[in-house]
Amino acid sequence: MKKYLLTLQIAILIIVMVGLSGCNEPYQNIEGATNGENIVIENYNPFYCKKVILRDDDIGRKPQNLPGLEWVSNLAVKKDIKITFGIIPKPFGSDFKTINYLNQLNKEYFEFATHGYEHIKFRGLSYEQQYSLIENGTRIMEEYLHCKPYTFIPPFDRSDINTTKVLSVFEYHSITGLKDPQSYVLSFLTDFEYENDWYPAKHCSLAEFKTNFDQFYNSTDEYYMFVFHDSTFLDEEGKLNVTIIDRFENIIDYIKSKNVQFMTIEEAYRRLNDENVINIGIINESSYYVDLRECFYNHTIKIIPPLDWSKDIYLRDDTTGQITILDKEKFEFQGTKGHIYNISP
Ligand SMILES: [Zn+2]
Repeated sequence: MKKYLLTLQIAILIIVMVGLSGCNEPYQNIEGATNGENIVIENYNPFYCKKVILRDDDIGRKPQNLPGLEWVSNLAVKKDIKITFGIIPKPFGSDFKTINYLNQLNKEYFEFATHGYEHIKFRGLSYEQQYSLIENGTRIMEEYLHCKPYTFIPPFDRSDINTTKVLSVFEYHSITGLKDPQSYVLSFLTDFEYENDWYPAKHCSLAEFKTNFDQFYNSTDEYYMFVFHDSTFLDEEGKLNVTIIDRFENIIDYIKSKNVQFMTIEEAYRRLNDENVINIGIINESSYYVDLRECFYNHTIKIIPPLDWSKDIYLRDDTTGQITILDKEKFEFQGTKGHIYNISP
């Protein structure tokens, strides 16, 4: 996924990231090069994994769509994955069932992003028009969801430089679908859409998805954004379409089988923002450090352990002295900004 960036600093960071992403082949031998006291990871990096963003658009468009949203939210919790919801503020603001539903969800799994105001194209509207739409949309998001939105998903992914200028005023971090390098916020591009036709909606097959995902997986790209609309999981009577939801679940299971890290768009922004200050290295052949002392944000750190790490793996927070054993199912931990960690079997 290419990104179009606001500052030269982040642009350099991306170049660094692309350079590092060659180390994605697991289970190679470690051949460290010395760098002061520690050894820099070169060939095998157990902290490198592919990142997957799932984006579900058009939330709140019609109250009748709630069963699709409920199904996909339950799936996210059951499968332990993350989803970014694109919420259309204007209809959402008077849909109290959907408002109440989103408010009781566990926020660990979900991000609430602003999907326009009404479902119209922003590209070509004046700065003043866009300002007014984004101001109204942001106000509805904050008032009904009690959190500040950081991601803007323009309807039909149609936006322009004015959209990003307004977004920076309202302190958004990211936009989707904009290919303008002058953007004032970070842009994430779509890699794959579950709906490959509309009116009526049609969905890609599992085989088509696998072909696309495998290409990404074998490339040097690190981030992958999969877009879908849970409203298309319902039939004309508003009931779940079993074929469509089963296939969606199979897609999720396939992604999970590849040992990736699921992220919301905002988590991906935070990770990219801190990428050049997340310092990871080897202390000796079985012990690593993760240094988040210069980070601006907290991060979930996922580890792909070497095959011979069958024993318990200890995580020591060197900042607090606290020691925990990593969950063998997940091999990840919540890293706090400002802290430095030691990981060893
Ligand atoms: Zn939409």
